[in-house]
This record gives sequence, C-alpha cells and structure tokens, in this order.
Amino acid sequence: CGIFAYLNYHVPRTRREILEVLIKGLRRLEYRGYDSAGVGIDGGNGKELETKAKTIHLIKQTGKVNALDEEILRQQEVDLDVEFDVHLGIAHTRWATHGVPSPVNSHPQRSDKNNEFIVIHNGIITNYKDLKKFLESKGYEFESETDTETIAKLVKYLYDNRESDDITFATLVEQVTQQLEGAFALVFKSLHYPGEAVGTRRGGPLLIGVRSDHKLSTDHIPILYRSSGKDKKSCNTLPRMDLDTCLFPVDDKAVEYYFASDASAVIEHTNRVIFLEDDDVAAVSDGRLSIHRIKRTAGDHPARAIQTLQME
Ligand code: GLU
Repeated sequence: CGIFAYLNYHVPRTRREILEVLIKGLRRLEYRGYDSAGVGIDGGNGKELETKAKTIHLIKQTGKVNALDEEILRQQEVDLDVEFDVHLGIAHTRWATHGVPSPVNSHPQRSDKNNEFIVIHNGIITNYKDLKKFLESKGYEFESETDTETIAKLVKYLYDNRESDDITFATLVEQVTQQLEGAFALVFKSLHYPGEAVGTRRGGPLLIGVRSDHKLSTDHIPILYRSSGKDKKSCNTLPRMDLDTCLFPVDDKAVEYYFASDASAVIEHTNRVIFLEDDDVAAVSDGRLSIHRIKRTAGDHPARAIQTLQME
C-alpha cells in the first residue's frame, strides 16, 4: 500500500538515522490505511560494510508503524550505531490482498533465506499463480501466501540463470517486469548489488526525490532504451559522452535518493522529484540515477524532468 526507500550515497548515516528516515516515511503514508509494516536494511557490524553488505536484515510486524518501531528496538543483533557511507533501506506498509496480515506475509518479501533479493510491492500481480507454479517446478520454496513473493523469487531465478556476469540490476528488473501482469509499484534491494536501488511501476504511483547540496548534472534524464544497447552498461561504466543519461551531483558525489508512492513522504527531505511513468525502470548505481525502458514507442517522451514540488 505504501512504499518508501532511502538511499544515502557518500552521506554517512548511522543505522539509527537510516531507520528514523524510513519510519518517518512510513508514518507519512499511514493515512492510506494498512495492516502491517516492514523494513529491509543492511546487516553486519563492521568495516566490511563500507564495501559490501554481507547480510540483509528484515524486520516486519503486523499492526501499526509504532509496533514496527518497537520491534526494531527489540532486535538485539541490530547495532544502531554502525555507520554507513552508502546504504539503501526499503520500507513498506501493507494492505493485504493475497494472504492474511502476518509478519511472514508482510513486505519486504524475499528470494530465499539469505535475502539475496528483497522487494516491496504495492498492487496485485494477477498471474502470480502461473509464476509460482513455474518457480516451484524449478525448486524455489515459498514461505508466504502473497503474490509479491513470486517477484522476489523471479528476480533470483533470472539472476541465477543470467547470460552474462555483468548483468545490471536494472536489466534484471526489466526482465522481471516483462513477466508480470497486473498493477504494481516495486522497489528492489539486493546483496548482489550493494548500495544500489531499482524501482519500477505499472498502474501504481512511484516517484523519486533527489537531495544534494551540490549542483546536479542535469534537470532532465534522457531515457536509456534497451534496444539501443546502451543499458548493457550501468551509469558508472558509461563512456563520458553518455553520462548525460544519468543524474548525479556535479561538484561532489554526496547525494540522497528517496523512492516513494506518495510525494507527501518525500517533501520534508527535498522538493526535487522525478515522477516515473508506467514501465520506467529507475536505477541508482554508484550514486547515479538512470531511467531505462525496453524500447521507444511513438508518442513516448524520451526524458523525465526533475520537477520542483511547491512547498506549503
Ligand atoms: N498484493 C500485495 C500483498 O498482498 C501487496 C498489497 C499492498 O499493496 O499493500 O502482499
């Protein structure tokens, strides 16, 4: 029902601060109604976190965001003082459509016990039964009753069966969305892509807030079409001339991104936002935001503008 994600890039934040941003974002979405809530953050306690998250931690609870907040404080293995220079946290309020309200049915949903891929979802996947049958036939074991869990398992299936080792997170998610029917807004986090976020939507709202003290490289983001072959590379490996297809701060690399299903959750952090359109796949990699589509069709606008929300 409500989606909120926070990515800090070269902006040091403790786990406590990150969780505060996530919980605050969820509180802004509470008015939409929900029955459970959850967050997914990096685990671990040490220096290794600066380069690669070794674990992803899920905290989920039925009831109010307050109940989730209390549950977070009960998690003794979660050291709140650990600092992250780069981190993605994702958070969700669920309004159950498939499966009763329960911790295991709450989001994030996960690909496997190691939480290799986790996802938050607003909406309904109408072909989830077919997807589930297919994935079960490949040996994937389901733990929840949700339609959403098929998405988490599908992205792992596509990753496990990838053709090339340097497949980007954005390309994987594009492949996922091609298999999905129904309505959705999604944000993904993965152990295989630490510090990266991918969000996409079809028939449900999703926007991205950008905050940086520094000048941004562009005020509109030209779309990377897969048919042009460019999206085989991620923004951080594109040749210089192609960097205008990415958004990033010019003078400094410090930047924060907020993914949300509703602008009211973002406005207290920034008024610069990008509204995604159906089938846009937005990816943050190495602090750079790029927007991908499979192919250009007549009438498509080949860029997304950074808009300025009016503060009240
Ligand atoms: N269909 C999903 C579920 O029941 C997502 C519901 C929502 O939008 O919160 O888990």
